[in-house]
Amino acid sequence: QAKDNGRNSICFYTSDINDQLFHYQEVTTLLRNALATNGLQLYYQPQIDLKSRKVRSCEALLRCFDKNFGPISPAEFIPVAEKSGLINDIGDWVIEEACKQLQAWQGTKLETLRVDINLSGKQLTKPHLAEQILSSLQKYHLRPSQLGIELTENEVIGGDNGQIRQLETLKQAGVHISIDDFGTGYSSLVYLRKLPICSLKIDRAFLHHAMENDCDMAIMEAIITVGHRLGLAVLVEGVETLEQDRIVSERGCDLAQGFFYARPMPAADMLAFQVEV
Ligand code: C2E
Ligand code: MG
Ligand code: MG
Ligand code: MG
Repeated sequence: QAKDNGRNSICFYTSDINDQLFHYQEVTTLLRNALATNGLQLYYQPQIDLKSRKVRSCEALLRCFDKNFGPISPAEFIPVAEKSGLINDIGDWVIEEACKQLQAWQGTKLETLRVDINLSGKQLTKPHLAEQILSSLQKYHLRPSQLGIELTENEVIGGDNGQIRQLETLKQAGVHISIDDFGTGYSSLVYLRKLPICSLKIDRAFLHHAMENDCDMAIMEAIITVGHRLGLAVLVEGVETLEQDRIVSERGCDLAQGFFYARPMPAADMLAFQVEV
């Protein structure tokens, strides 16, 4: 599925296997170049605490810039990076860069902001991932609670005991752990009870369906209730309108993220950002 294809998309999903192969190799080359030539950048999207209307955390979203193609969407290059194994080097870069940015924000109005990075399930299979993250935090003199990680439910459910233990180590140290895109995978509410997590991020497709359909609204409300009963914070992704902001606030969501508040932006713009909602 070519989801989220932007204007500068270079991705053409066709049935022609040669085209697909070309795409795969082309993107792999682009990514390898980007890694070697500072072509990667993290953008940051504020997460709004709906009670206080304040921003206390944000999500780091990867951007890849190529001088010929312009920006390439992570929806396109992350799956390719996972397939080619490049995701490990890219993931290492993201961990390091997020910590570097957090350190750069110390002494500014953003010094208490938590940054949540996205992890690929592949990274979780590295036996020393937790250690690596904690030592990056140490290297930049940060508290573990300044960092968060996001994993999709499928990546976590598939995890073996070793992977769950890594999450436990991180959570015990104080790293915030979120389930991303909740509601799109094989969501079983039961397994949530067993996982070392702090919050649920309800996928934006859910909110958009809930706007049109009473059943989906009922399911979203149920997820919020169950999340709260399990002691989890609940965030809704993809809030784009005032009406959606009102609905998620009324339904008791704790946090929201979406274009209505702010688009993902370069680190420098975060300093100027003020919530006006
Ligand atoms: P995600 O983690 O679910 O990130 C949210 C995506 O929704 C982002 O797309 C964000 O720009 C977009 N978004 C935010 N608010 C709105 C809204 O109101 N409306 C709409 N239509 N979209 C909104 P983005 O930046 O293109 O990232 C796509 C996906 O790529 C992410 O989904 C995540 O799964 C993956 N990704 C991004 N950065 C990284 C990374 O550093 N590592 C890994 N492994 N995956 C990443
Ligand atoms: Mg995410
Ligand atoms: Mg998400
Ligand atoms: Mg996603």
